[in-house]
Amino acid sequence: MNIGRFEVEQLSEGIFEIFEDGDIRKTDPDHIEDSSEDELLRSSSSFVGIDPVLIRDGKHNILIDTGLGWGLDHRSHFENTSNLKTNLDIFGLSPDDITHVVLSHLHFDHSAGSTYVDGESRTQVTMPYANYFIQKKEWYFALEQMEHPTDVIGAGYNLDELYKLMAEEKLVMITDASFELIPGIKLIRTGGHTPGHQIVKIEDQGETAYYLGDLVPTEFHLNQYSMRKMDIDPLQAKKAKTLILRQALEENAYLLFYHSIHTKSGRLDKDKDRNLVLRKER
Ligand SMILES: [Zn+2]
Repeated sequence: MNIGRFEVEQLSEGIFEIFEDGDIRKTDPDHIEDSSEDELLRSSSSFVGIDPVLIRDGKHNILIDTGLGWGLDHRSHFENTSNLKTNLDIFGLSPDDITHVVLSHLHFDHSAGSTYVDGESRTQVTMPYANYFIQKKEWYFALEQMEHPTDVIGAGYNLDELYKLMAEEKLVMITDASFELIPGIKLIRTGGHTPGHQIVKIEDQGETAYYLGDLVPTEFHLNQYSMRKMDIDPLQAKKAKTLILRQALEENAYLLFYHSIHTKSGRLDKDKDRNLVLRKER
């Protein structure tokens, strides 16, 4: 998809079944085809898509969220399945070509692909020439959570391998609530899901798109004003979501969802009951 001069792609790592004990299994998409998104969201384990975003403008190759790091570790059995590397390869890129990495927050399902373990069991930075842009608040909250975890359901923090980013001075800690990454790409701190959660606004030549991270993880969450027990601060999540979605509707913006199983992107519309829906375009 094109947003002005930017080419924007969703890189699907696949569909995963996440269990309450943190176990993760990759799922056969055929199994998913037959069930509705609604049904899947109600089952005891949860099925999620994992879709990092690649933005290119000929000069910059920007990656938003790095996924689970599926197949990246040296001893992985999944090296040839769809993962960050094989996905970049489709666009003629390798991890070395990435110039910027943005992490919406540091939950492992959004950040684990930032590093991998090599043949000598050493942690390495996956995108060695990129800086990794995170909110400073998120880093300190994650450190705190490693010692005293808050009781929220869903993905947790696993910083062990992310310390490598710190050690190699790859982390850029943002303190501004709104930060221009490059002209046309803005990082906006929303908080809510986690205190340092940020989303990405892509804007060029009158076209706009938003990457919403876990503020609105799927189409199903458009009209639910918090993710129940999954947000650290549900009130802030509701406030931020209301504001951003109202603006996105006005701007006729394209929305990109990270965790969708069926519909991964689309423009907003309102149905006859004034609920937000995605416009049917195809
Ligand atoms: Zn999360």
